[in-house]
Parts: sequence; structure tokens; C-alpha cells
Amino acid sequence: MTAAQESLLLDDISELTTNDEADGGRLARAALVIEGDHIAWVGAAGSAPAADRRVAVGDRAVLPGWVDSHTHLVFAGDRTAEFEARMAGQTYSAGGINVTVAATRAAGDQELDANIKQLVAQARRGGTTTVETKTGYGLSVAEEVRSAHVARRYADAVTFLGAHVVPDGHDPNEYLDLVTGAMLEAVAPLVSAVDVFCEVGAFDEAATRRVLDAARSRDLARRLHGNQLGYGPGVQLAVEYGALSVDHVGFVTDADVDALVSSWTGGQRGTVATVLPACDLSTKMPLAPARRLLDAGAVVAIATNCNPGTSFTTSMAFCVATAVLQMGMSVREAVRAATLGGAIALGMHQDGWRDVHGRAQPAVGSIRPGARADLQILDAPSAAHLAYRPGMPLTRAVWKAGIREL
Ligand SMILES: [Zn+2]
Repeated sequence: MTAAQESLLLDDISELTTNDEADGGRLARAALVIEGDHIAWVGAAGSAPAADRRVAVGDRAVLPGWVDSHTHLVFAGDRTAEFEARMAGQTYSAGGINVTVAATRAAGDQELDANIKQLVAQARRGGTTTVETKTGYGLSVAEEVRSAHVARRYADAVTFLGAHVVPDGHDPNEYLDLVTGAMLEAVAPLVSAVDVFCEVGAFDEAATRRVLDAARSRDLARRLHGNQLGYGPGVQLAVEYGALSVDHVGFVTDADVDALVSSWTGGQRGTVATVLPACDLSTKMPLAPARRLLDAGAVVAIATNCNPGTSFTTSMAFCVATAVLQMGMSVREAVRAATLGGAIALGMHQDGWRDVHGRAQPAVGSIRPGARADLQILDAPSAAHLAYRPGMPLTRAVWKAGIREL
């Protein structure tokens, strides 16, 4: 037996969030066994099969590692002044992105690398084991390719966001030709999905359709930033194009909610509605209507949207606490949305998804036999403490693919 195949028993877990329908999603007084990179056994405390090593978790909760399905971590520079102005009453518009584009282009490879490395390390300390990140601060062929390479070194999924904003000094139509042509051509081998910022001040419906058509013609998954700053076509386009997720969803009509719900009917893989509470707070927008989406039957994910302009945090625990305290989500719903919900949004909730190197991986976002051993121990007896004690550093230990990382 190699070291990597060594088995580890975590026993005496006070509360285990499994996200497994077979056991109701949560077990009291539980134990689990990790073997190699995956979970080998889940059951009652004190009844586990023998393992090479045993850790008594004590009166503490265990849950899947957070799956942060929406971040922008390849950037340089700082937008503190813009944040301060916003807190002093100025409204947010999509144009601030170009400030980060200029700083990112001016940065050396090492600076970009060091920045994302630090952000992912901070996320890990907070219990995040899976991170999607996007390009989108390069916005030229060479710079988007560079961003994708940097992202692949640290992220679990990389999304092409050439359609983030029209860079300063470009004609919108010519830029769209570039994004859907040479830029996509160059970046496609490095990414698994294409995203587009469908918003006033960014890309309108016709432009969004062109980006989504180009993605679909290359068999790349689709995502959208939609309905962030006001009502718009984003949600409907996401569903029409079979997008894995539509993110922000702050302003949705009844028809938008219906479209999201019905995207899952008939055994179809539908579109996840991803809420980004830290971004809503930082832009002083209303918090997304997560309660309404859940009540209607939509599949909801919670992500950080970490970026230097509108949501500069990798703390999924903060987002979960906000979802519970201010968005009407129950603890169970919020934890599920921040783990399994994110995994569904990334297409990683079932075995066999491909990592950035093309290797097949076990499912993430749940703790059940066969799933990847991505989990965290809290310094608390239950996941409820994430909202009950907001802001506290409760993540005590983290395993990713069976390897202890904290
Ligand atoms: Zn975003």
C-alpha cells in the first residue's frame, strides 16, 4: 500500500453534512474514512471499519469543502479608492473593470502569479477546496492567453471572459469580432467554459448571443453574468443556451424564475442560479432573491465573485453567513448552495469531470463513498455556527483530494 493509498478515519463527528440524498443530507454522531483521494466509507460514529490512522474529531462538525464557482483571481492593482467612493454614495457601473485591465496588462507574470497564489491560499484557509476563476482583465489575445495560463496553475476550473467589458479605445463591434474569433481560438484549449457580462454598459443581448453561439460552436460550456444591475435578458439567454449557470440574478422576473426552474424538468441538466452576496453588499445592490428562487424550485449556488472591484473576498463562510442572516436561506440551504450547488454549477458534482489537465476526477460537493475527499472540520459542533457566530475563523482543518492542506 503506497502512502497515497493510506486510509484515514475521522471519528466522533458531531454533525456531518453529506449532501447525500440517501441519508437526508446530514448525519449526527458520524464518522468517515478517506482512502487515497476519495471517501471510502460514511456512517455512524464508532462503527467505522479499521483504518491506518484515526483522528478523533471531537465535538466538531465536518462538511464538504466550499466550492467557489465564480471568481476573478487573475489581476493586478487595487481599487480601494473606487470602493471608498462607492461607500460614500457613488453608484457602481461596469466601467471600473478597465482600471484593473490596465493594471493587469502592466503587471509581470510573477506579480499575477503571486497574487492568485495568495488569494487561493487564503480561500483554502477558509475552507474552500474548489475554485473556478475567469480570465477577463487581459482583453487582448496575448493577455487573455497569459491570464488563462496563470489561472490554470491555481484554479480547478478556468473560464474565458474576454466578453467582460469592451476595453478602452476599442470599437464594440470590432472587439466582439476579436472575442468570438481570434481570442476564443487562442484561449479555447486552455479553458472549459466561456462567460459573458450581459449588462447595460457591458454586452447587450445581440452581443451576448454572439459570444454564446461562438462558445457552443466550440463545445465549450456557457456561463453568464446576468441581471446584476437591473432586469435584462441574461437569465433567459442562459437557459436558452443551456448555460451551466447564470450568476448575480439580483433582478429577476417571474418569467426568469420559471425559466430557471423548468430548465431542470424532464431529467434535463439545467441552469444554476448563482447568488453572489458579498458582491451585492459591496455594490450596495439589493441582495439577490435566493428565497424566492429556492421556493420556486430553482437550483441555487453561492459564490464569492472575488475580484478587486466589486467583491474583494474569498470568504465563502462570509457569503454563507450573509445568505442565512439576510437572504432568508436556512443553514442547510446555504451550506448546500456553497458546496454541492457550486459543484453542480461547475459540472463537478458527478464522477468523471475533467480537471484542467484533462484528468478524470471523483465528484466534489458531497461527502459520500466515491466522492473526492474534499472536506473541512469546523471549530464548532454544527454548521449553524457559521451564521450563529458570523465572522469567526471556524475552519480548523481542510483536506483536498485526501491531502491535508490546513
Ligand atoms: Zn463576476
